[in-house]
Amino acid sequence: MDFGALRKLMVDRQLKGRDITDERVLTVFLEVSRHEFVQEELKSSAYDDCPLPIGQGQTISQPYMVALMTQILKLQTQERVLEIGTGSGYQSAILARLCKEVYSVERIDNLAQGAQNRLKKLGFGNVHIVVADGTMGLEQFAPYDAIIVTAASPQIPGALLAQLEDGGRLAIPVGDRFSQVLTLCEKKSKEEIIQKQICGCMFVPLLGKEGWPI
Ligand code: SAH
Repeated sequence: MDFGALRKLMVDRQLKGRDITDERVLTVFLEVSRHEFVQEELKSSAYDDCPLPIGQGQTISQPYMVALMTQILKLQTQERVLEIGTGSGYQSAILARLCKEVYSVERIDNLAQGAQNRLKKLGFGNVHIVVADGTMGLEQFAPYDAIIVTAASPQIPGALLAQLEDGGRLAIPVGDRFSQVLTLCEKKSKEEIIQKQICGCMFVPLLGKEGWPI
């Protein structure tokens, strides 16, 4: 299977063909091998325009959604990012190519372990994975220049806004369990947070103290 050709088609049709215009984002999507992040039997579908199962009832998001969330974060090379919901580690790998350090929190030990091994094997040395309830953020390495939540939240967890640097951006799907609105928060200062609604979306639930009950 010519994964390189499939990757180029994915970028041309699903990303450029929609509203992904950031050249740095488009370039990393050409470079990162999405098929390395799915199970053997799904590799031939790795570049399809849809989410795919990764085990434990979880999914790797649709390529377009990964790209859109990445694009709205407007990452700079020297920045540090917190991701909630490591899953397969694909979104972490994309972020890792666009900024300095990625801290990623996953609640399911088994998925965290799989992502860690995969990212190590592929040479992503700047992704740090922690097993914890990400609704509380990750105080240890705060503040972050950007935070991305790749699971659906009933509300915007206060801890995440608190751990964002002034000038920082938070991308999070907010809504009920079956449909959400991708929301971008820009923290001007502790007192001033600007919220923008980007588009409708559908993610697996964010489970935890400030998310949905487990
Ligand atoms: N970014 C992932 C998508 C993962 S799906 C990828 O590229 O593959 C969402 C993930 O969020 C799941 O793995 C789920 O276990 C995790 N999750 C749900 N609630 C969480 C919480 N409170 N803290 C950390 N991870 C959580």
